[in-house]
Amino acid sequence: MISLIEELSRLPGIGAKSAQRLAFHIISLPKDKVQQLAHTIIDAREHISYCERCCTITDDKLCPICKDDARNQHQIMVVEDSRDMAAYERTKEFKGLYHILHGAISPMMGVGPSDIKIKELLERIQKEQIEEVIIATNPNIEGEATAMYVSKLLKPLGIKTTRIAHGVPVGGDLEYVDEVTLSRALQGRREI
Ligand SMILES: [Zn+2]
Repeated sequence: MISLIEELSRLPGIGAKSAQRLAFHIISLPKDKVQQLAHTIIDAREHISYCERCCTITDDKLCPICKDDARNQHQIMVVEDSRDMAAYERTKEFKGLYHILHGAISPMMGVGPSDIKIKELLERIQKEQIEEVIIATNPNIEGEATAMYVSKLLKPLGIKTTRIAHGVPVGGDLEYVDEVTLSRALQGRREI
């Protein structure tokens, strides 16, 4: 029981109290329900795969957004992770496609350009008819470094590259920014 509480409290957003509440809930469930929950977690981890086009986490070859022909096929918003994509989707402001980098360049943490999905972005741009790349990495040192790096790669290709405006608090995490601020940041984007 104590080890269960400890494990749960390591999950993001779960404090000691919530971990305790969840643990008590889990041990009160019928055995088969607990087995089903454990199995679902293991199954999700084992069958994780990335969208062939945008690299978001999906259990299919293409994610629902990449499959949707009604989306603007000429705009790509580059974000650090799938949660940032979800945050922008909640605004209903952006109708284009996404590209998920799965991180940001961070020399301090030993993360270089080849450790995130930049190569995949470039390959995509060569195959698809992209007119604008909107860089929506987080407004912190790593996010800015990544934005600069990507924009330098895209410039010679003649693709319009924009950066979301700083309605987003500096040092903030996009995932936690409210929808109105995210919409404004998108509308106020500037060419870099
Ligand atoms: Zn996709």
